[in-house]
Amino acid sequence: MADRFLRRAARTQGKAGEVVRKRTARAVLEQELIADGDRILIAVSGGKDSTVMAWALSRLKQSLKFDYELAALHISTDFCACCKKSVLAEKLEGWGIPFTDLFVPVVGRLKPGRKMNCYWCSTQRRTELLKYAVENDFNKIALGHHLDDIIETFFMNLCARGELSAMPVKIDYRKYPVTLIRPLAFLEERQIIACAAEQDTLKAACTCPYGIHSQRREMREKIAALTGGSGAVKRRIIRALTN
Ligand code: SF4
Repeated sequence: MADRFLRRAARTQGKAGEVVRKRTARAVLEQELIADGDRILIAVSGGKDSTVMAWALSRLKQSLKFDYELAALHISTDFCACCKKSVLAEKLEGWGIPFTDLFVPVVGRLKPGRKMNCYWCSTQRRTELLKYAVENDFNKIALGHHLDDIIETFFMNLCARGELSAMPVKIDYRKYPVTLIRPLAFLEERQIIACAAEQDTLKAACTCPYGIHSQRREMREKIAALTGGSGAVKRRIIRALTN
């Protein structure tokens, strides 16, 4: 029994990482996400998505023809301490990615009478991320949103806000000399989870007390019904969104 388990583990070892590496490379090449000489700042939360993205981008440096630099920025806040920063820093540095932690007092910046919410939090963190990138000469910022995030956001914008808009795979900021890229755009969440488990990075779960994702969860169920859970159908949807 144990032998059979070990044989199976040996056969599947590295497969999930290979899927992530190939699909990230495909997104990078097809969508022209990275160019020679780029300085890329990876936004890392300590969660599986951004950690797997950092790993994939560090691996691609060895196989892609162009040369680029990577660094990672984690934003700490005054309300959530779920990220094990020393473990994250050690992993990233092992992959040749320097790590910086920046503290942003998101709750402390609230005006009197205002309540904390996800919009305020993400705006504060995004502004600091951009400021850091500009001040430190990064021309690209990599975010760890994957195929399921992008499709969910598209349908949420459509159904809840009456807007036809999606998270772009690549977008230039008008106000800043920075381009935002999403190298995991062609990967389903389940593929990232498999890779994170293989890499032993699936440790930090976000325990943010303000995170109420019921709307997103409902949309996820509707999308599962629409696509039948098929990765091919999801990839057709993102092809339509990127065309
Ligand atoms: S879930 Fe928490 S960390 Fe995430 S955007 Fe909302 S408030 Fe910020």
